[in-house]
Amino acid sequence: MIPSEDTIYRLDHVTRESPEVLTLSFAPEAGELMQFHAGQYVYVDMIERPKRLPSRPYSISSSPSDAFVSVSVKKLGAFSGALHELTPGSRVILRGPAGNFIPQPSMKKLVFIAGGIGIAPFLSILKGFVGRNAQDQEVLLFYSNKRREDIVFFGELQGITQALRGVRIVYCLTQQEEKADEAGEYRRFDGSMLKQYCSKFGMQDYFLCGSVPFVTETSQVLEHAGVLCQRIHAELFY
Ligand SMILES: Cc1cc2nc3c(=O)[nH]c(=O)nc-3n(C[C@H](O)[C@H](O)[C@H](O)COP(=O)(O)OP(=O)(O)OC[C@H]3O[C@@H](n4cnc5c(N)ncnc54)[C@H](O)[C@@H]3O)c2cc1C
Repeated sequence: MIPSEDTIYRLDHVTRESPEVLTLSFAPEAGELMQFHAGQYVYVDMIERPKRLPSRPYSISSSPSDAFVSVSVKKLGAFSGALHELTPGSRVILRGPAGNFIPQPSMKKLVFIAGGIGIAPFLSILKGFVGRNAQDQEVLLFYSNKRREDIVFFGELQGITQALRGVRIVYCLTQQEEKADEAGEYRRFDGSMLKQYCSKFGMQDYFLCGSVPFVTETSQVLEHAGVLCQRIHAELFY
């Protein structure tokens, strides 16, 4: 069944973020861009492939005020590999938005914990804060990757910390052999790191995003540290 025109999008441009990650930016073929909240995801369906693969969810990495809907895709298997082969002009169906990984305006102290491409919804959320010039928003982002070259959106994230005084980023590199003396951690996120960086935080909300093992492990760290379950919000990429 061909969906209504307003769910069909065309790939406008592709941005390489790292050796394994591309950002695909889509514009509607007709009508308005979809309305969404930063932190939500869309189901992507490739309609022009001879062999149709079932649609997959991808977090939106653009901000609601951007001119495109973007998703940032790590190349892993059949579906993500096929997305990496799309060229500008390719047609897809974007279904959504979906999900409630959305910080509420009342949450003024936030801790974000991202594993790898799990940074995607956080980029959208942070860009939304910049768009609103939310200087009263406190955000501590722990961003975990194996090596320095795996970090995506580094330039944009640094720009965000310059635009908003309340945003701080701790890069956690778990398999980086050469340890430069720049600020950052060379270990996995754990209880001691939480205590080191969060001791001055009061009642904050925690948003976790990444692979199932990453989110499971980090939520256990938080629970062992006494964080209430209702303050832990998780998005699992599977
Ligand atoms: C709500 C939601 C939001 C998502 N947002 C994003 C997003 O913004 N960006 C994104 O890239 N993906 C995202 N995903 C994951 C995405 O939907 C696909 O599952 C992913 O692209 C892999 O699909 P695939 O068919 O290419 O790989 P598959 O064929 O499913 O797997 C390929 C291979 O990679 C392995 N593999 C799968 N996941 C991982 C992993 N995390 N780490 C290491 N190896 C793995 C598998 O074991 C398999 O061997 C999201 C998932 C959900 C549920």
